[in-house]
Amino acid sequence: MSALYGTYARSELAFERGEGVRLYAQDGTTYLDFHSGIAVNALGHGDPHLVSALKAAAEKVWHTSNVFTIPEQERLARRLVEATFADAVFFTNSGAEALECAIKTARHHFFAKGEPERYEIIAFTGSFHGRTLGTIAAGGNPHYLEGFGPPLAGFAHVAPGDLAAVEAAVNPASCAVLIEPVQGEGGVTAMPAEFMRGLRELCDRYGLLLVLDEVQCGYGRTGRFFAHEWSGITPDIMAVAKGIGAGFPLGACLATARVAASMVPGTHGSTYGGNPLACAVGNAVLDRVLEPGFLEHVDRMGQRLAWHLAQLAQRFPQYVLEQRGKGLLAGIRITPPVRDFVARLRRDHHLLCQGAGDNVLRLLPPLIVTEADIEEAVGKLADAFTALDQEAASLATGA
Ligand code: PLP
Repeated sequence: MSALYGTYARSELAFERGEGVRLYAQDGTTYLDFHSGIAVNALGHGDPHLVSALKAAAEKVWHTSNVFTIPEQERLARRLVEATFADAVFFTNSGAEALECAIKTARHHFFAKGEPERYEIIAFTGSFHGRTLGTIAAGGNPHYLEGFGPPLAGFAHVAPGDLAAVEAAVNPASCAVLIEPVQGEGGVTAMPAEFMRGLRELCDRYGLLLVLDEVQCGYGRTGRFFAHEWSGITPDIMAVAKGIGAGFPLGACLATARVAASMVPGTHGSTYGGNPLACAVGNAVLDRVLEPGFLEHVDRMGQRLAWHLAQLAQRFPQYVLEQRGKGLLAGIRITPPVRDFVARLRRDHHLLCQGAGDNVLRLLPPLIVTEADIEEAVGKLADAFTALDQEAASLATGA
């Protein structure tokens, strides 16, 4: 009997070791990892550059707090600013905390401008922003809100893709629009570039801030450093996590100077956020992600994965209803219940992947994946569909 909270429907599978896109279970079985700890292990497992950065950092100073200057943190922030739209960074330990910072930054910007009545954020149905009280209100999913008292006020929800609905939701209390450029948990839905550009234009027209949640779709996963780059727009604020630490808990809220200006001493803080260990790893991750050719590789592998999934969909139209996603944040909407299918893939085919809303099977390989790995994974999916066919046939014969 586990002594843990029962908050997760965990598998009993436990891993001992990892290397690249493979994980090795305690019983010695090898698994192909198209899960990456839910889009976290961007560089796979046991990357030598990350391992040596963490070991070197562990020999120095583990923690000092943000009361002191943390050189690795300063350096990571400078590099992120150089590589993005942003002028300033606040480091966190998780995605939800990055979103909390983003929400506070947006609201405080208007407070400091003498417009405290503008605190409402227009967000989208099907989105996921985390599990804190603030981020479950931002996500608006009734299942996650139920039982936890009144939701944090100040969020309106409209359907993604519907610019007219966003415009209709704008009111004197509005301060920002919050969106995932590719919805992950909700069902792997990529926002059309036209819609992203429309949101930017609408925000500019009404004086709203555009806040992006790139916790899952950012940090190279779609083949660009950040997913919004595909649409050519820039946000005012952006929440980042997962890939930024590639397995070490790290997140960040990035903002323009204009917007970050009101976040003065006393407005926000974190004991651990951006500590020396986390930022040493963060810098090592960035070395790799910004290496020439890295993002091009992700883009190419994303296209190959999409191609192989399209073949699979043609071969098994009875099981694959739709292809979704962008780059290596890929999904297929399937007919068998996705939770059971994920368990079947793990148990019978030793392939790790994740479900998402709308009965979508989510494929999130490490960004270092090769086409041979992709072929192997899609081969395992084909084997699993074939097994379903055979079971259906033998049931029919049995009957
Ligand atoms: N935002 C998005 C888009 C996510 O996918 C997640 C986690 O899956 C979060 C926020 C929350 O991140 P964390 O679980 O690190 O708090």
